[in-house]
Amino acid sequence: MYIAMIASECAPVAKVGGLGDVVSGLSRELEIRGHTVEILLPKYDCMRYEQIWGLQKTYENLLVPWLNSQISCTVWFGFVHGRKCFFIEPHSSDNFFNRKTYYGCRDEHLRFAFFSKAALEFLLKSGKRPDVIHTHDWQTALVPAMLYELYQTGGMENCRVCHTFHNFKHQGIAGKDLLLSTGLGKPGYYYDKARMGDDYNQTAINVSKGAVLYANFLSTVSPRHAWEVFNTEWGYGLGKSLYHHRHKFGGVLNGLDYEMWNPETDPYIATTYTADSFSDKSMNRQSLRERLWLRHESKPIVAYVGRLDTQKGVALIRHALFHALHKGAQFALLGSSPEEGINAEFFKLKQQLNDNPDCHLEIGYNDELAHLIYAGADMLIVPSIFEPCGLTQMIAMRYGTVPVVRAVGGLADTVFDYNYSDRPSAERNGYVFYQPDAKGVESALDRAIGLWFDYPGQFRELALNGMECDYSWNRPGADYVNIYNHIRHK
Ligand code: ADP
Repeated sequence: MYIAMIASECAPVAKVGGLGDVVSGLSRELEIRGHTVEILLPKYDCMRYEQIWGLQKTYENLLVPWLNSQISCTVWFGFVHGRKCFFIEPHSSDNFFNRKTYYGCRDEHLRFAFFSKAALEFLLKSGKRPDVIHTHDWQTALVPAMLYELYQTGGMENCRVCHTFHNFKHQGIAGKDLLLSTGLGKPGYYYDKARMGDDYNQTAINVSKGAVLYANFLSTVSPRHAWEVFNTEWGYGLGKSLYHHRHKFGGVLNGLDYEMWNPETDPYIATTYTADSFSDKSMNRQSLRERLWLRHESKPIVAYVGRLDTQKGVALIRHALFHALHKGAQFALLGSSPEEGINAEFFKLKQQLNDNPDCHLEIGYNDELAHLIYAGADMLIVPSIFEPCGLTQMIAMRYGTVPVVRAVGGLADTVFDYNYSDRPSAERNGYVFYQPDAKGVESALDRAIGLWFDYPGQFRELALNGMECDYSWNRPGADYVNIYNHIRHK
């Protein structure tokens, strides 16, 4: 099968969060299974160009119709860790992807609508005819609508689309300008609530609703989150439309790229290790302490790695930090927020704790440091308010770091409580709490820290149980191949 991934991120060249990991990891798995995968991305100026091998121009002067005119694009090709990637570079005064940032621009809906359109135009004009186009999140959610409404002819009629929702919080809300720019036009037609008219804002187009209607299959990133979309507020208003199209919607748990995240070969950690040489993990703890100026004492390190977004339970992260210190542990935090207010709050906290030898806050994005934290920490706290899948708890387990999580979304599907799970003890791999408050955090963190101090042998067994779990792309890869085969034009 020939699959084209159209996405706004791909690890490690253009990654903000889990979306980037999923695009690269799933693509690798599909290739291992014998399929051909090509990834289409915007050519951002802020990408990690050193992660691209053999970058070269492959298509010049790709003319993309846009707002009564055309924008000329250069398409580049290069390998990212063996994956075939095409990077689309528009030449216009809009400078859509020369913003020194991936996201957060005022014309966000137009930037990614343009990219979606250019990606389809590139497939059409270069004669590429994927069996399946896999799109991801709102940024590329307009692809299925445009494919159906504008690109049916010219050989594209057999392409099918699978769309994955990684986060329902962002759905792509736009106005009439989006319809006019992309050539979809016909506002009266698209503003219909059965198409892309937003259910809550009469004057808005909801790009994600377009994917719900036009894609041949829809997935979200864990079975629990698929359930939550219908039964809780975490569908952010899209649950009704999805319920209407539930025959083509399902939850597929994300996998982890076991090559990228592998303590046995990881080039970014101080000492590589496996479950059989688990005691070597402690050298990474030492190294992490040196890197973060933490004192060397017999204490566990509790860590947080991730975006500092309200979704992630910012107040609970803060509480976990102080509570861990209170209980005699150390705390390491690596994260950043696109919201100035949240960043400022954590910078203030960093200053306040500057002289504390048991705590370090690194505000920013640092892929290499993230690897060392997963390897060097003893526990990872993930107190999310909602979490479609969550990768950090799975990465932690891969590195023998015990996850302490709130039971939502994919966290509930992957972490099973040491004391209270109904699973056999060999399958219990972490600590789980339910209430999104201080008491909830403490109920799990106290047990984790207590076990580390009082029963180190049992804590080690728990960490090893996590290392035994298979959260690779093996199973979800097979699930996606089944989905693609199911929707493929026969
Ligand atoms: P989300 O997609 O909501 O951001 P996930 O848990 O699915 O959360 O994925 C987060 C991914 O991004 C993980 O690979 C994590 O290591 C990485 N990550 C998040 N924040 C940072 C950061 N500040 N520095 C390095 N890596 C980060």
